[in-house]
Parts: sequence; structure tokens; C-alpha cells
Amino acid sequence: MAVIGFIGLGHMGGPMSANLVRAGHTVRGFDLVPAALDAARANGVTVADSAAEAVAGAEAVITMLPSGKHLLDCYEQVLPAAEPGALLVDSSTVDVADARAAHELAGAEGFGSLDAPVSGGTAGAEAGTLTFMVGGAEEHFQRAESLLEPMARKVIHCGGPGNGQVTKMCNNLILGASMVAVGEAFVLGERLGLSNQALYDVASISTGQCWALTTNCPVPDLVETSRANHDYEPGFSAALMLKDLKLAESAARQSGTDASIGRLATELYQRFNEEGGGGYDFGAIIRSIREHSERSAEASPEVTGTP
Ligand code: NAD
Repeated sequence: MAVIGFIGLGHMGGPMSANLVRAGHTVRGFDLVPAALDAARANGVTVADSAAEAVAGAEAVITMLPSGKHLLDCYEQVLPAAEPGALLVDSSTVDVADARAAHELAGAEGFGSLDAPVSGGTAGAEAGTLTFMVGGAEEHFQRAESLLEPMARKVIHCGGPGNGQVTKMCNNLILGASMVAVGEAFVLGERLGLSNQALYDVASISTGQCWALTTNCPVPDLVETSRANHDYEPGFSAALMLKDLKLAESAARQSGTDASIGRLATELYQRFNEEGGGGYDFGAIIRSIREHSERSAEASPEVTGTP
């Protein structure tokens, strides 16, 4: 069993570190927020007073932080204090450029490192069923696989440094765009007199089938697992979806990728966040689509909704 330093014990890092403790590892955790430390302590994490203290003597360090800036700032404390030979695994969702910068900083100090963002949300973090998308050298990946296993359903090596983050943002571009499309389809159907049930029954077994429809359907009472049934309590929040779409948009710009649908989905999630939707599940974007449809119908009297 390993000694693991774990930095960032929030919504994701809290339950992830608890699963490592349950698997028999010794976990030394640090967070800036006292409540996160208290919860971690109750889960069997040995709480440290600083990031440096958490990583001292640990053979692996896992970070689960809000952004690339937090990660690079945190590495200023971690790199001088980490044990020679320690493996650094960052599971935060960050910009590809920041992830690659973190790999370079770690490599310059002689540490092996991986970017290993996750999908599966807080429910996956609690159940230990996250998907890890891992970027970095094969030898480091092999070392990390068994460490990540208690938190994971799948651990997939996606290529060299930064490629875990590339995979994560590409996946979430698909997810954000498909949730918008599913929302628009339901609202279009509603406005033309189609029942949500009829659309679901057909699209869920036809070519419109996708996760946004059949697992997290934005219309309540059609799919048991959907957050729409719980007044859109997240799940995966619209604020985090916006964050990931912005990362994809910036990477598309930097790489010269013509990603128009991604750009549009970003604009729609931006609008939804500005309207106060950021704390709801990302499927609640359908409410914004419905509301804007009603407003534009009112503004154009020739548009009547149901014919
Ligand atoms: P969170 O805000 O709940 O947790 C982040 C924690 O990091 C906070 O408790 C904060 O106090 C702590 N922190 C920040 N700077 C620190 C520092 N220098 N030292 C120690 N602790 C520090 O966020 P979260 O929901 O747990 O998400 C973490 C990461 O996982 C994000 O990058 C997010 O995009 C990604 N993610 C989240 C979800 C989700 O559903 N919540 C799903 C997939 C990926």
C-alpha cells in the first residue's frame, strides 16, 4: 500500500481521497478550506497543514484543483517538497497548455508526471467509477494504473503529456453540443405539438440517440437517471460545462481547428450562466432554450408556436 499526498479535497477530491483510504492507502490531504479538511479527516485522510507537508515522503501526489492557475501555483509548493522519485498525477480539468507546462516543471525537477482528468462527476467520484483519461509516458502510466484503480471504472492511456486533457475537452465538446441539440429538439417538438414522450420513444432508439438524451434527458420523468427529475440539481453543473467548453474553444483557436458548433455551444452556456443557471445541472439549458423561444415568438407575432 502506498503513501499518497492529495491536494484539493473539494466535491471531487473529497470522495476520491476517501476511496483511496478505503483501498488501504495512507492518504495525506491538504485543502485551503477548513470544512474540506474536516470532511476528509472524517473519511480517514491524515490532514496536513500545507501542501508541502502533505507531499513530503509520499510516493505519489494527486492534485484535484479548480484550474490550471491553481495547479501551477500549487506546484510551487509541491515540487520543492516532494520525495525524489514521486509520481505527480493531476486529475483537475485544466487548459492543455497549463497541463503541458506542469509536466515540464515536474520533469525539470526529475519527477514523473501524468495529466489524468476524469469524467463521471461527483456520483462517479463517490462510487469509485470515474473514467481517467491519462496523458504522459507509458512507464508513468503503468505506475499509476493501480493507484487510480480504487477511484476508477476505467483508466485509459490517451498518449503523451497533455493528451488526457485533450481527450477530456473533446469529450465534453461532444457532450455540451449534444445537450444543446437535444434541448432544442424537445423545445421544437413542444412548439409544434409533439409530446416529449413520443420524441423520446423514437429518438432514443433511432439515430438521435446519445448520452444527453438517454442518460441525462433534459426533460423530466422520461429517464430515471436524469438530473431533470431532481429540479436539475447537479450532476455536472452548467458552470463546469461552460468552463470545459471555454477550454475547448481556446484549444480550437490555438490549434486552428474550425469548431463552430463548439463555439456556439459555449455562447449558449455563457448566456445560461449569465441568466443565473450556473449552479444547475447542464441539462437545465433546455429552460433557457424554451424561454428564449417564447420571447422571440412574442416579439414576432407571425410566429405562433403550435400550428
Ligand atoms: P471544488 O471547487 O469543489 O474543489 C477544488 C478544491 O481545491 C477546493 O476545495 C479548494 O479549496 C481547493 N484548492 C484550491 N487551491 C488550492 C491550493 N492551492 N491548495 C489546496 N487546495 C486548494 O471543485 P471540484 O468540483 O472538486 O472539481 C475539481 C476539478 O475537477 C476541477 O478542475 C473540475 O473542472 C474537475 N471536474 C469536476 C467535476 C464535477 O462534477 N464536480 C467532474 C469532472 C471534473
